[in-house]
Amino acid sequence: VLRWTLLSKKVPFQLGRMCYSSSVPTTKLFIDGKFVESSTSEWLDIHNPATNEVVGRVPKATQEEMVAAVDSCSRAFQSWSETSILSRQQIFLRYQQLIKDNIKELAKLITLEQGKTLADAEGDVFRGLQVVEHACSITSLMLGETLPSITKDMDTYTYRLPIGVCAGIAPFNFPAMIPLWMFPVGMVCGNTYLMKPSERVPGCTMLLAKLLQDAGAPDGTLNIIHGQHAAVNFICDHPAIKAISFVGSNQAGEYIYERGSKNGKRVQSNMGAKNHGVVMPDANKENTINQLVGAAFGAAGQRCMALSTAVFVGESREWLPELVERSKSLRVNAGDQPGADVGPLISPEAKARVESLIQSGVDEGAKLLLDGRNVNVKGYENGNFVGPTILANVTPDMKCYREEIFGPVLVVLEADSLDEAISVVNKNPYGNGTAIFTTNGAAARKYTHAVDVGQIGVNVPIPVPLPMFSFTGSRGSFRGDTNFYGKQAS
Ligand code: NAD
Repeated sequence: VLRWTLLSKKVPFQLGRMCYSSSVPTTKLFIDGKFVESSTSEWLDIHNPATNEVVGRVPKATQEEMVAAVDSCSRAFQSWSETSILSRQQIFLRYQQLIKDNIKELAKLITLEQGKTLADAEGDVFRGLQVVEHACSITSLMLGETLPSITKDMDTYTYRLPIGVCAGIAPFNFPAMIPLWMFPVGMVCGNTYLMKPSERVPGCTMLLAKLLQDAGAPDGTLNIIHGQHAAVNFICDHPAIKAISFVGSNQAGEYIYERGSKNGKRVQSNMGAKNHGVVMPDANKENTINQLVGAAFGAAGQRCMALSTAVFVGESREWLPELVERSKSLRVNAGDQPGADVGPLISPEAKARVESLIQSGVDEGAKLLLDGRNVNVKGYENGNFVGPTILANVTPDMKCYREEIFGPVLVVLEADSLDEAISVVNKNPYGNGTAIFTTNGAAARKYTHAVDVGQIGVNVPIPVPLPMFSFTGSRGSFRGDTNFYGKQAS
């Protein structure tokens, strides 16, 4: 059984798990302030992606357990929504400190279940922590508006009020950051929250829940259920749930948006991506190549903001050999090994899918400049590793361009002008993130105004907005009307 000692209380904590068999711990549900073992007969294995060993089991919560979790949220809403905003804020001020104190433990859990390097895992927690800090300053965003003398003897006031029970459905790739985009902001505004973490990486969310309890969140303000489709359908259909935050694939996100909206819920759905890095010939070569390598292959490409597509404009295409050389120097290894740059993919299925997309590129006429298939990671022969891969001469009709690969694969297109590059970006169905590399201010301005994409970086490869702004997205990457965090969060 894995144990973590929380500094805040100096007591050992079992991370919401207990022995299921002689060696494999089980993940608990968090219902009404208690970490409870599910009575389900249906369990899913959690694997360490570097070894494929089973490191835990997660339950598919039963209908009764899911109902109990929502009922707990509904009861807690009565008092939580009436708790002063300053008291709610104090809990999140304590929470942000507890997350900082436990960042290494959270990161270790992420690396164990998700595979990313420990440095990336700490970054994952840190980016979520920033949203918690933002939640601590929610008072000014919660202000309403007034307009006196709207007509004779009449003034108008607006208030921003909590809406009730909210629910979050999270993906596997950021086990800390994305749940922390969800429940802290919802809760500090006075809502209660039902979380369904990714069934592949539930451990980090369980520790985050324990820390929130230690920070003083009353029983029932956060409940956690586990599962897959049945849990998602339950969230989309339960009448007490007023709003859903989803982050994940298009297949799930479009379905959840449609089903939840039909049931009258407010739904925000952040989905897939195909992010282009446009490289102008006047860019700083050294900086651009370094940024491309980090943004394409970091976290094994399993980032919704990964720069998975490079568009070389004009003579910049001559930098390709250097890009290949630099990419070769990345070290593929288990995420907890010193010096690892690229960790494993989440599952053998993900690895097989990525490898087949690489092959589809080759079959359709792309040039494989660097092949990360069959990479040998000593001591981790059973892991889901794919090394950095570069496919050049790619055209927009190829499958490897049309589909989100979600692996350490950079596909390279070429364009003769900035206008042509802009047209490529705008014809792609996704609009999550993009970057332009240039030293020309006019080109940068033109690009930032002409592309229909949520996050745009100028010489910045992964422009994830800090929490005082919102994380947006356009076209195929987003459904909904209000975005995560920033001013829109309240
Ligand atoms: P996923 O859609 O498989 O899973 C996300 C959640 O949805 C999980 O909790 C899962 O249990 C549930 N789910 C999965 N399939 C479902 C289905 N058919 N019906 C109902 N629910 C389902 O996503 P993932 O593989 O965990 O995450 C990777 C995806 O997330 C990528 O497409 C990535 O681009 C996207 N992502 C987007 C953002 C963003 O902000 N735009 C951020 C991170 C990840």
